[in-house]
Amino acid sequence: PQGQTSVLPSSPRLLVLLNPYGGTGEALHLFQKHVTPMLMEADINFTLLVTEGPNQARELVRDEDLSRWDLIVVMAGDGLMFEVINGLMERPDWMDAIKKPLAILPGGSGNALAASINHYIGHQQVMGTKLLVNCAFVLCKGQPYPLDLVSLTTSSEKRLFSFLSLAWGFISDVDIESEKYRFMGSVRFSVGTFVRLTALRTYRGRLSYVKASTSTETISDSNRPTLDNSHSELQPNVAGKELDDSLLSPLDQPVPSHWTVVPEDQFALVLAVYLSHLGADMFTAPMVKSLGEGSIHLFYATSRISRGSLLKLFLSMEKGTHLETEIPHLTHVPVTAFRIEPLHNTGIMTVDGECIPCGPIQGQIHRGLASVISI
Ligand code: ADP
Ligand code: MG
Repeated sequence: PQGQTSVLPSSPRLLVLLNPYGGTGEALHLFQKHVTPMLMEADINFTLLVTEGPNQARELVRDEDLSRWDLIVVMAGDGLMFEVINGLMERPDWMDAIKKPLAILPGGSGNALAASINHYIGHQQVMGTKLLVNCAFVLCKGQPYPLDLVSLTTSSEKRLFSFLSLAWGFISDVDIESEKYRFMGSVRFSVGTFVRLTALRTYRGRLSYVKASTSTETISDSNRPTLDNSHSELQPNVAGKELDDSLLSPLDQPVPSHWTVVPEDQFALVLAVYLSHLGADMFTAPMVKSLGEGSIHLFYATSRISRGSLLKLFLSMEKGTHLETEIPHLTHVPVTAFRIEPLHNTGIMTVDGECIPCGPIQGQIHRGLASVISI
């Protein structure tokens, strides 16, 4: 990386974590064909580690001497990035560890972070090899920017850190059911959507949130690199050694009185998303213009939404035009915290596309807690 503001050394040491199983299973081949030549051209040294199974990357970054690396690169889908972020947050020195710059190269079927960065830097929405080459360029030329994380708490008291989304209902079902169409690559999500549409379900529970303040503050400040530690908004809200979720009350107690509780209790889908894209061709939150804006975009559809509306929603999401006309029974609200309390703890939810058991869960945003390479 070049330029006066870059913090990365002129010959950074890269640890590349690659999931050979992501997407259609071609990540290693794609890395060697498209990324290796660019890194060599840019004179960037890297160590490639091909993961052998789930959680290996998470454990590795949890125990690794991070001073050995200037940058951790994830060549996979969002699932491996989720592992890396949670591994960093599980360290006793998480406060420093989570500042280690991360980079994404799309090598899975769900490449939301790669697609979002590609969008923020002004590139056209592309998929496959084109997206990979764009991201490899970002890796060679970019610098660290703040990345928001949402801290999620479940009743098991286990905390998870999410950079992309939490889904319950229609979308999480599609995420998991489409696993069997993995050989199709990202098309698996469209196929899964149509299959799910024929068997629409209702999910009962309570949804509450804290509305984001409608301040007119510009978001251009969030465009500055993470390095500017004097910028107070980029400081994590730290109490002692634990990251403090100041907006949340314990899950077994009612939400604080200033929260909004949604009056309806039957949903077709609930989605909290913090990046513009939910997948390479899913431009779900077009109102998100850059990294580190500090908002959760909460979407929910009550069970009164029609099949036709849901179909229209997912078809127009590819271009991001789904919010241009109002869709009956679909609501979008920017929030800083939310809670979902399902009536029945059956089924699943997904965090960043990864499956977790369905149950009460709440989360709040931590602006710019992590660091990711962009331009
Ligand atoms: P995709 O976008 O195709 O789902 P991901 O990178 O999200 O690709 O990975 C999917 C899952 O694969 C994640 O849960 C991750 O933990 C897991 N995983 C990582 N390495 C391996 C491996 N070597 N074999 C099998 N699964 C793996
Ligand atoms: Mg995934």
